[in-house]
Amino acid sequence: EWVNFIAFYQRIIDRFDMGRSQDVSFKVKLPKDPVYVEIDTDKMTQVLDNIISNALKYSPEGGQIGFKVELKEREKEIVVSVSDQGVGIPRENLKNIFERFYRVDKARTRQLGGTGLGLAIAKEMITAHGGQVWASSVEGRGTTIYFTLPYDPESEDEWA
Ligand code: ATP
Ligand code: MG
Repeated sequence: EWVNFIAFYQRIIDRFDMGRSQDVSFKVKLPKDPVYVEIDTDKMTQVLDNIISNALKYSPEGGQIGFKVELKEREKEIVVSVSDQGVGIPRENLKNIFERFYRVDKARTRQLGGTGLGLAIAKEMITAHGGQVWASSVEGRGTTIYFTLPYDPESEDEWA
């Protein structure tokens, strides 16, 4: 299904903004023009739900969550990111967080709940869409999850 990713992402962000009970603010930076991607919207909703739920779960009171979409026209892909100011992930564990059932610091994450499947499922779905996913993080400062999706730069004009 071809959809304007910007409107699609904005709707998901709005849903989290409405349902939010924590004292966390949202900062959204999206392109103004539509960007058309071919995605399974149910699966991509699940991907974003998993990533945004984590950002909320690991955010401190008063933290900010940043949402971005950047266009890499030459690579014909978009880079979607979700940043938080939470506990962060130690460097040596960064590559493992996309493995099934993997959770950093068992004691800490046990309190917060979850099975350790969210990011593994997200990775599987992003890969199935021809994208990649990775994380950058600084312990005690925050985490950013990035993923790419192929898009057709030409379609911007055709659909406009
Ligand atoms: P589930 O998503 O199944 O409810 P989960 O959130 O623990 O459980 P994942 O979403 O797969 O599992 O994340 C794996 C682990 O990566 C988490 O347990 C946590 O340790 C770490 N992690 C993921 N996102 C963040 C984040 N934004 N900040 C800090 N740690 C994170
Ligand atoms: Mg999760």
